[in-house]
Amino acid sequence: MLCTECQSGYHAPYDRFERVATNPEAPSFLMRCRVCAALWHENSGPPRLLTQTQSRWLYPAERI
Ligand SMILES: [Zn+2]
Repeated sequence: MLCTECQSGYHAPYDRFERVATNPEAPSFLMRCRVCAALWHENSGPPRLLTQTQSRWLYPAERI
């Protein structure tokens, strides 16, 4: 269940997210909402909400 903020998208205040994984080659970042644990994929395009399965596939070296 997404929190109210995540339901409306990936937006400020960004301190509700913690960075849980980084891909320096992309570059891209996996951010997790501290409120609802939603996983957001942040790169040069629009941020995308990911499932935990998708996150593990994108960041196989990280413990997510
Ligand atoms: Zn959230």
